[in-house]
Amino acid sequence: MAPDPPAKTVIDPFGTTVIEDYERLYQEFGIQPFKPLLNQIANPNAAMRRSVIFGHRDFERVLDTMKRRDDFAVMSGIKPTGEFHLGTLQTAREVIYFQQQGATAFYCIADVEAYEDNRIPFERSQKYAVGNVADLLALGFDPKKGYIYQQSKEERVKDLAILFGRGVTLATMKAIYGERHLGLYISALIQAGDILLPQLKDFGGPKPTVVPVGIDQDPHLRLTRDLAFKFRRKHNFIPPSSTYHKLIKALDGSPKMSKRSPMTYFTLEESPGVISKKISNSFTGGRPTAEEQRRLGANPDICPIYDLYLFHYFEHDEDVTKLYCQECKGGKILCGEDKQRLIKLVVDFMKEHQRKRRQYIDKARQILNVE
Ligand code: SF4
Repeated sequence: MAPDPPAKTVIDPFGTTVIEDYERLYQEFGIQPFKPLLNQIANPNAAMRRSVIFGHRDFERVLDTMKRRDDFAVMSGIKPTGEFHLGTLQTAREVIYFQQQGATAFYCIADVEAYEDNRIPFERSQKYAVGNVADLLALGFDPKKGYIYQQSKEERVKDLAILFGRGVTLATMKAIYGERHLGLYISALIQAGDILLPQLKDFGGPKPTVVPVGIDQDPHLRLTRDLAFKFRRKHNFIPPSSTYHKLIKALDGSPKMSKRSPMTYFTLEESPGVISKKISNSFTGGRPTAEEQRRLGANPDICPIYDLYLFHYFEHDEDVTKLYCQECKGGKILCGEDKQRLIKLVVDFMKEHQRKRRQYIDKARQILNVE
């Protein structure tokens, strides 16, 4: 028998990311597996326990700092191109988790990247940003223990980007990001500024910083770690650490949700009717007939419904294990029934979230200094 063709891996923060085998990232991209660290973390979150967070760079440094209860920071953000979706929800939850573990939290509204990558004018991204910040607050971000800002208005980030421009060549940018227009390279330097902002004197100076992101963002981490090293004399930067979560499957079964295909994902602002329709039409790992599914079981590994439970909608780990092993693989549940159960959980969560979010809109405007 011919060997399987090598799995395709493409990591591109400005384009399509394809990960067919997360294991290969350890060998080919120098990412460390997260699992061996799990038993050292006093209070791991669901994403860590369930291996949704699968890899890291240099997280031991942050872990040691957490154990000593010293200062550390968490930094991540959102590209304000629309409402919060399930990928940005994942990142926000991780930022809030580290904030609750004692980190000073930095949350960036990446409006420069939204402009350069998605051509979203700043006036429009500002409107999205207000909603995005209200979502973040509704999820539990404490603004008294953190800093939320827009890239385009944060001079210190832009100053760092100008400084960093001297430390990279066009060849390096091409090697990391491929052939791109200059605006994207500039936005990458600004992201490096975002990641190292927590270490400036204004925020208490150098400190371990963890950046929780989807694996598609790893090129920004590689660039920033390199820049932190190059500019260590001037700023004493400590190379930032990162954790990587898997990308949640799109509802059509493809590896990543895409804003270009609205039926493949939903946002936190959608109505129960739309959510119900999207989940009902979703691809699954089910069998062609009910009889076969009861007899042979289904395949949760290719199923976006399973991902939704795993990433977001089952509170208890035992429920995830039961779905995977007994209900799905064991043929105890049919996909239609499983989808109905999920719809109820999602709609209940959305109603409660949207109620809280409405209460935070004024606060979000105030934080962003928007009329
Ligand atoms: S039973 Fe549920 S998890 Fe399994 S394939 Fe069907 S929808 Fe997916």
